[in-house]
Amino acid sequence: MRSIPGWSAQKLAGVLTRVGWGLWALGALGCGPTVEPEGAHDALDAQSHPFVPLWPEGDFSARVTRYDYDFATQTGEAKSTLYLDVAPPGGDCFVVNAPQGLTGLRWNDAEPTRSESTEQGLRVCGRGQFAGQVKLEARYTVPLETYDFTQVGFSRRTDRGGNTFSYLLSWVESCDRFGPCDDRTDQLTQYVFTVKHLAGERVLCPGQLTRPDSTTTKCTLTGLTKAPTYSSFAVASNPAWRASTFTEQSSKFKVVFHEVTGGKLASSLVVADVKAYLNWVIGELGPLPYGTELRVAGAPTEWLGVEHPANLILREDLPDLRRDYANMTMHTLMHEVVHQWAGNRTTLSSPFDFVWKEAIAEYLTYRYERQGRPAGEAEQTRAYWDRLARTAAYYPQPEDDPAPVFLSYASDVYGTGPMLLFLQLEPLLGENIVLQAIKNFLSFPGDRSVADLRSALEQASGEDLGPYFDAWVYGGGDPDWPFFEVSHALEDGELTLTAVQRSVSGTAYPVSVDVLVEGATERRLVTLNYGLSPQSDTLSVTVPFPEPVVQVTVDPENRVVNRRFLGLDAEPAPARWLF
Ligand SMILES: [Zn+2]
Repeated sequence: MRSIPGWSAQKLAGVLTRVGWGLWALGALGCGPTVEPEGAHDALDAQSHPFVPLWPEGDFSARVTRYDYDFATQTGEAKSTLYLDVAPPGGDCFVVNAPQGLTGLRWNDAEPTRSESTEQGLRVCGRGQFAGQVKLEARYTVPLETYDFTQVGFSRRTDRGGNTFSYLLSWVESCDRFGPCDDRTDQLTQYVFTVKHLAGERVLCPGQLTRPDSTTTKCTLTGLTKAPTYSSFAVASNPAWRASTFTEQSSKFKVVFHEVTGGKLASSLVVADVKAYLNWVIGELGPLPYGTELRVAGAPTEWLGVEHPANLILREDLPDLRRDYANMTMHTLMHEVVHQWAGNRTTLSSPFDFVWKEAIAEYLTYRYERQGRPAGEAEQTRAYWDRLARTAAYYPQPEDDPAPVFLSYASDVYGTGPMLLFLQLEPLLGENIVLQAIKNFLSFPGDRSVADLRSALEQASGEDLGPYFDAWVYGGGDPDWPFFEVSHALEDGELTLTAVQRSVSGTAYPVSVDVLVEGATERRLVTLNYGLSPQSDTLSVTVPFPEPVVQVTVDPENRVVNRRFLGLDAEPAPARWLF
């Protein structure tokens, strides 16, 4: 609990009782027929009475409906204004996540009665109220500092052209680095950013962007579609950025690149490809949630990309990186675009729901690679996912105690997420059902959990996914992925394949796994479908096969998370990207 309701019903009743008696006494004095005519002194006295304020006391809970954030890129000076929607029964204090060193605190345009640091954050108190709005203001100088070996924080870096890239970057549970901010992931709210900068500086921030004068850039995200704090607190600037419209479709999208001269992102993408993809994803998920303009900037970032509302910051050297995905630039762009719906318009119920937003961004990117991109792209994505998943350190919903370090968990989900939540369910539910479940899951704004995703998949398919999620999604310690031991027997042109699942726990995993059988001249893909609630770890299938078997390969297309070896030698993990 972050707020302590300090206002008790008993206390309220006590105050009301006192006031009630006072009114009764006044009535008896002023209106009763037996009262003597009053003298001048008495009349004056009757015009004022002792007043017992009715303001409630104690911490109230509230939703921040809007942040007005003023930020100066050259000094880090910031002013936060939070509009709080006070929930009944109200109170006179509010506790909010905040950094140390705030100044200029104001409570509804007045000095707060008191403020103090607590374990839950900053407690600020002012005149109490039962409900309605409190405007809370504070000033803070954001230090040039980053956290947890990431770029989260406020930083300046030199880009590939020797220009200074400034970045105020929030992330999951991090917006309170920049001023008072409710950093819960499930909060969707509105923003107005007013950024002061050098005349030559090009500034990007979430929402509708205007430049009232040469040293001010304003971003307004106050429309119907709100956004979460972890992706919205973002101000990026570079004096050398030049804006150029990359592709545009009237009333649907306008993609504007912000790159330095010689930037490699736009030039490594094909206009028609990006256009076709945007038409596809908008067709599946609906209009872009934050207006038709999508700004894409190249920058010296560590992560491949970040999804700010209406703004994508992409790593400037994406085209030069090792190709874990066949086309790093296009894959990253497609992934970040999906986050406009999956992660921004709908947000995470809690930090460890991070997996569904990455799983959806990856899976929809993959679906498009499969249907709209050159042969080989989707296959390579699956192969990389599979390596990531086989070597994952955590289950998608880790039950480890203590919980994993969040950053380690976050970079761990890019294989397990899309494979276990979607790809592996394709043969069990049908791939159209999987896509429909995702569309339903994202169809309206709000916060979502992995449990909500399971419900969406169950509703779309009519199946019970309890055993599946128990086996694959929830768990503690090193993931206990199964090894499929497959034997074969050939008799009169009939081949019987028998698979046995080997795992530490002995779980019978709900799964459908393909096995490639090769003879001297013939190749056949055989499906071993255990179904959604297998009672046994052993399954046999008999198929016609005309010649002796030369080789058997389990899961040749990387569709299932299974161990490749049985034994103690761990498979080396590939490089993991965050984006
Ligand atoms: Zn992502």
